[in-house]
Amino acid sequence: MSALYSGETLTVELPPSGTARAAFARADSPVNKFDRTALEELREAVDALAGADGVKGAVFASARPAFVVGADIGEFTELFRQPPERLLDWLARAGELFNAVEDLPFPTVAALGGAALGGGFELALAADYRVAVPGAAVGFPEVKLGIIPGFGGTVRLPRLIGADNAAEWIAGGARMGAERALRDGAVDAVVEPEALDGAAERLLDRCAAGKLDFRRVRERKRSPLLLPPEERETAFGTALAAAAAKAGPHYPAPAAAVAVMRDAAAMDRAGALEVERRAFVRLARTETAANLVRMFLNERLVARRAREAAAGARPVGSIAVLGAGIMGGGIAFQAALKRLPAVMGDAAPEGLERGMAEIRRQLERRLARGALDAAGAVEAMGRVRPTLGHEGFERTDLAVEAVVEDAQVKKRALAELEARMGPEAVIASNTSTISISELGDALRRPERFCGMHFFNPVPAMPLVEIVRGRRSGEEALAAAAACARRLGKTPIMVRDCPGFLVNRILFPYFGAFELLLRDGADFRRVDEAMERFGWPMGPARLLDVVGIDTAARARQVMAEGFERMAQPFAGAMEKLRDAGRLGQKSGRGFYRYEPGPKGRLERLPDPEADGIVGPARPRAFDEAEIVERMMTPLCLESARCLEDGIVETAVEVDMGLALGLGFPAFRGGALRHIDGIGVAAFREMADRHAGLGPLYHPTEAMRARAEPYHGRPPEA
Ligand code: NAD
Repeated sequence: MSALYSGETLTVELPPSGTARAAFARADSPVNKFDRTALEELREAVDALAGADGVKGAVFASARPAFVVGADIGEFTELFRQPPERLLDWLARAGELFNAVEDLPFPTVAALGGAALGGGFELALAADYRVAVPGAAVGFPEVKLGIIPGFGGTVRLPRLIGADNAAEWIAGGARMGAERALRDGAVDAVVEPEALDGAAERLLDRCAAGKLDFRRVRERKRSPLLLPPEERETAFGTALAAAAAKAGPHYPAPAAAVAVMRDAAAMDRAGALEVERRAFVRLARTETAANLVRMFLNERLVARRAREAAAGARPVGSIAVLGAGIMGGGIAFQAALKRLPAVMGDAAPEGLERGMAEIRRQLERRLARGALDAAGAVEAMGRVRPTLGHEGFERTDLAVEAVVEDAQVKKRALAELEARMGPEAVIASNTSTISISELGDALRRPERFCGMHFFNPVPAMPLVEIVRGRRSGEEALAAAAACARRLGKTPIMVRDCPGFLVNRILFPYFGAFELLLRDGADFRRVDEAMERFGWPMGPARLLDVVGIDTAARARQVMAEGFERMAQPFAGAMEKLRDAGRLGQKSGRGFYRYEPGPKGRLERLPDPEADGIVGPARPRAFDEAEIVERMMTPLCLESARCLEDGIVETAVEVDMGLALGLGFPAFRGGALRHIDGIGVAAFREMADRHAGLGPLYHPTEAMRARAEPYHGRPPEA
């Protein structure tokens, strides 16, 4: 068979039947994506197709599992930094290319054997018809990167599936399964993989036989939206409000996508594409998009490092958890959910019952949400075996110790565990504050021991810090990393120090909070300011969730490890603790908590708290000052962690904060926050607050530093 076109990313065959087949298959990667080369080659291939004789129709397909997964993000970040006219120009040329696909002088079908996302889906939409296999996924994840589709996605999708659906698809950024795509009209047929090519060809045959009018389909995509103006206003108005409310003020892309569709609804293809391009350029050049793209690449880098860390580890076939409390129960539950058998031990019957109750509660929540069916819940429950003691521990590959936070209790529990487990087994402690090196000293085989610091609530929090103690061996660390991945978590390798990475950075932030309260700030104003900054909850709310007593104890440990974290006055934490207000768990902390009508805890104001923490001399702080005073110690401690080699890269610092604390993604992380302000300007800002104490003092290395913490974004 003769190849009509042959490139590094795409080949076009034209057999005598006249049905051309353009198949994407990158020579340099197992996944197809659109970078400069791929777009240039597509241009050449489309020109070749348009100029060829005897073509009756064309199928766009892939010789790889996925169709095309989108644009090459790494290359795009370079593009986004160019002057807006260059970016507009580049988009206009890509737009012409997709138009050329749509305008080919014969019918076209996209055969989707796997994922068609972003630009890949836009190409599929430029074809006249789409067929997909049941496992294919389509959609526009662009809003997650702070941008919108830029190759005509906002133009073609609403004209194909209607305003409401398109708004939901694009503003939601979700991948849609083939069945949903069929139902909404984004694909025309779903067939088994072996029938995919045949189905595509049959569509072309029906066009040739005059049974399908591909020109009418094209006309619809090239014309204004078929919707009376009032209905259009209503549909887009509702969608716009919903998208803006869901995304919140820091993520403008979803609402912008809907606004683009609305503004272009009465226009033809050329006009609508122009509206899309302008909005794309505006969004692509924002700090938010830059940070979100960076976070996407950071995530991939951290995932790659996690894979490397776990490489060579023996697979974990079952785990043991000692201590069936909040954390032990959570870890055992997570194992059950991920089909990993777990034995859960506790010294106290009521402790064990609490752990099992926690697992039941988690399963019931999933049942209620429809995330699990009854049979699945029973199966999951069956994967956790409770025991009073260590029975069955010797048959597991890895044990996580999660008993109370007390060094002596832990040392004894770990030594007993070691005696019980097989010589090959790995033991990990979930301690939040106690030195892993010190705990390892209590063991005969410290090389088989390390930290595995999960976050609360375990099912919801993606991070596990894998802590390297002084004598932790590589095999144990790899096994712990592999176990974390098996549990669906992201492990980050950290060096031992008080608080490890995340809590070490969090406590100076709490320290800043205490200083603000001391100086007369209202804790509610601080919460509001930090929530507007982008945190999922302000510091007072967070302390109520963590537990005031737990936090006060942890701060003590942190202060013993780092002098700067000592607090020479009785703070709100101590006052609340002494008043028995321990946060959510006791129904009262900074706020009051009561079960609402649906059984969920509701947060209520409580004037009594003011009597306890209320400042003697209230002072109104403006929001910028609150944010500055709160963020500076956190950012400085982040820089210290990097200097001290707690993790190896700035990316891991920022990803640790995102995954462990919910640091707002659109800000990119603490070190990225410093970079955004500028290292020198940040230093000056810290110096302005130097009188507040050592939490605000930059290190020598930071004083000498000229370059930003993050260089170019990591390779895609
Ligand atoms: P918890 O008090 O809810 O549970 C501890 C359990 O350990 C209790 O059920 C207790 O009966 C049991 N226990 C005590 N001594 C034991 C022994 N010798 N052998 C067997 N069982 C024993 O505590 P938690 O909040 O689940 O914390 C457990 C560990 O996880 C602590 O080290 C804590 O610092 C750490 N951690 C807690 C959080 C959190 O937010 N709660 C987050 C990360 C890490």
